[in-house]
Amino acid sequence: MKDQLTFQNPVSRFPVISPPKQSQEEPGLDAELIPQTDRGEQSYRGTGRLEGRRALITGSDSGIGAAVAIAFAREGADVAISYLPEEQTDAEHVAQVIEGSGRRAFLIPGDISDPEFCTQLVDEAASRLGGLDALVNNAGRQIAIESFEKLTDEQVQHTFDVNILAQFRIVRAALRHLPEGATIVNTTSIQAYKPSTHLLDYASTKAAINNFSKGLAQQLAPRGIRVNAVAPGPIWTPLQVSQGQPKDALPEFGKHVPLGRAGQPTELAPAYVFLTSPESSYVIGETLNVNGGTPSP
Ligand code: NAD
Ligand code: MG
Repeated sequence: MKDQLTFQNPVSRFPVISPPKQSQEEPGLDAELIPQTDRGEQSYRGTGRLEGRRALITGSDSGIGAAVAIAFAREGADVAISYLPEEQTDAEHVAQVIEGSGRRAFLIPGDISDPEFCTQLVDEAASRLGGLDALVNNAGRQIAIESFEKLTDEQVQHTFDVNILAQFRIVRAALRHLPEGATIVNTTSIQAYKPSTHLLDYASTKAAINNFSKGLAQQLAPRGIRVNAVAPGPIWTPLQVSQGQPKDALPEFGKHVPLGRAGQPTELAPAYVFLTSPESSYVIGETLNVNGGTPSP
């Protein structure tokens, strides 16, 4: 298989997919996704850009987070994998790939909508990794609701807890560990600027993450800690089949972007690697859009 550094046509690097209608309980598993995704197991080639780094990546059992975890390991980092207990199978797969790449992986299951767990997670990651110098706030939930009247306070609260409040709590806990030179990368979304009508709670959290990242970046830059964000477009992951999209929308998923196809999780990984690597030393408060060509502000 070609690696990500091989010269190739982005239109045909991955096939156009027409996922069949399917449904999984939230949070959904990569193991059960049809078709399967590319998280870089066979295709991501490291070039030593994160040698010796110690990273905590939330939601790194599956999808984009899994691809980032695999890429970080191939680039020389050890990784703490944060995920929900129901996702044990996916998390173990990622840990195996990381260990097969000669790096260490630590599994830390738990629910980041619990404020206390956010602190525990960071402290345990730092203790098991022997320190912490890279944080990727990537976990998120996305539940599509057709009409506004059906969007309950409970859902809005839960989405905000997981997608944005947990980022505040995890960063606060991480600052006790992060040395000069450390990095934070937050996962936002194209939804931050182009909200879908059925994702109003989710899209609002993603706009908040963009704003949070730009503000935090200015506060932490003088301390030598860089903060940036990545805004994915339509990427084929378990998020989409665990109520993330109306079921009828799945076969057309991602076909509307200029590149004409959904993205694969591994196509996101180089953006996170770049923003975490010391080579991006002067890039601060930036949102890197990885979305197949949809214009963004
Ligand atoms: P995914 O389902 O593979 O990853 C999301 C992860 O979030 C889950 O694996 C889970 O471990 C974690 N998570 C959810 N609720 C949690 C909780 N309460 N406690 C702890 N962990 C929890 O899907 P993905 O698409 O790879 O999503 C990763 C990020 O990318 C999310 O922030 C999502 O909003 C963002 N994103 C995805 C897309 C896309 O098209 N897939 C587009 C834009 C942004
Ligand atoms: Mg998952």
